[in-house]
Amino acid sequence: VSLKEIQQKEKDLNAFITVDEEKVLNTAREVQKGIENGELTGSLAGVPVAVKDNICTKGIKTTCASKMLSDFTPPYDAWVVDRLKKAGAVIIGKTNMDEFAMGSTTETSAYGMTRNPINPEYVPGGSSGGSCAAVKAGEVSIALGSDTGGSIRQPSAFCGVTGLKPTYGTVSRYGLIAYASSLDQIGPIAKDVGDCAALLSVIASHDLRDSTSVNLKDYDFTSALCQDIHGLRIGIPIDYFKEGLDFEVRESILEATKVLKENGAIVESFELGMTEYAIPAYYMIASAEASSNLERFDGVKYGYRALEYEGLHDMYKKSRTQGFGSEVKHRIMLGSFILSSGYYDAYYIKALKAKNMIKQSFDYAFQKYDVLLTPVSPGTPPKLGTSLRDPLKMYLDDIYTVSVNLAGLPAISLPCGLNQEGLPIGMQLIGNCFSEKTLLGAAYSFE
Ligand code: GLN
Repeated sequence: VSLKEIQQKEKDLNAFITVDEEKVLNTAREVQKGIENGELTGSLAGVPVAVKDNICTKGIKTTCASKMLSDFTPPYDAWVVDRLKKAGAVIIGKTNMDEFAMGSTTETSAYGMTRNPINPEYVPGGSSGGSCAAVKAGEVSIALGSDTGGSIRQPSAFCGVTGLKPTYGTVSRYGLIAYASSLDQIGPIAKDVGDCAALLSVIASHDLRDSTSVNLKDYDFTSALCQDIHGLRIGIPIDYFKEGLDFEVRESILEATKVLKENGAIVESFELGMTEYAIPAYYMIASAEASSNLERFDGVKYGYRALEYEGLHDMYKKSRTQGFGSEVKHRIMLGSFILSSGYYDAYYIKALKAKNMIKQSFDYAFQKYDVLLTPVSPGTPPKLGTSLRDPLKMYLDDIYTVSVNLAGLPAISLPCGLNQEGLPIGMQLIGNCFSEKTLLGAAYSFE
């Protein structure tokens, strides 16, 4: 795709916040030279890629879709961006998202919402809605997203693309602007499972600058694709198929079990447990960490500063009041409340206990199953505007994705059908920690 075509598509889509054409062309020329003289031999040599705008890119604006960072140009690259460059990729631009990755629709961006490429009246999902829309619309074939509670998987499902949230610790968070550090992971978004595996092989690696980065022996995820899934034990958590799940989503997922069975997998339902605690635990932990992480945006060292103020405290207050949007402020207030003395034990500690029990229920499930098959979201994409009017429903709709982050597990979202209006339906495969290869293998059996 040419930059002209991207420009054309962007008029309707708004998947990108920044596309610096001159820089893209310069990089492309350099990469081409590198390929021609044999210096650049990386697996992504010359491949255009889009990067979510909460991942730092040296010399390219990184806004987190917030007014707070509207003028922030990082002086360094995130670890994953460094890996992309070494593999020869050309970064086309920075994709739109919910402000500071808080949201499920890409409507809370300070730079306007992104539309669903399949039907512009609907949301693309979020928070990595820009990355997923850009892939679906063919502006790029691969993109990076980040997933704290579903932000790669849910927009992938809503746009009809494939997205993977790696096991916590597989991809370095160095240079990812933190939302909730104990849950955040960067991951690949692509048209298909093969491209996801190829992109993951580039970005996953051990990094000493992220203390939670794990040193794995093998980072070649593409080798797993053609594995035989004969005898693979697939568990279907019945708790995920109860009330609230859209009929068409349910049918498509049950249809998918047939494919797995035909390929020799053993499919069984079971009760996972603890499901009702996932949303409250997630929103408490994520908001608590967010309130702490976002303290740094005070208008002093970098980021937005109010133009008029009286004294230091007034400057903090006005800069934050004007720089953050309302969803971000909600989370900061909720998080500060939960962490305040007197409420800490009742809310934060309790949420951590629930998190541990959720992890245990998955540990137990993985004694019996290799992979779990679930929906990604209870429904298909809502129309633009509806989630903003009913934020509680939007939070509750994260029910099938947030537990995966609380338990640190890997999960992949892939298309499994269309509803009557032609909107995509996604399914989710969840694996045990560091079983990305098994997951990718199982996912590949659908292609
Ligand atoms: N929708 C969830 C939230 O708003 C998940 C976001 C994410 O994964 N970044 O917190």
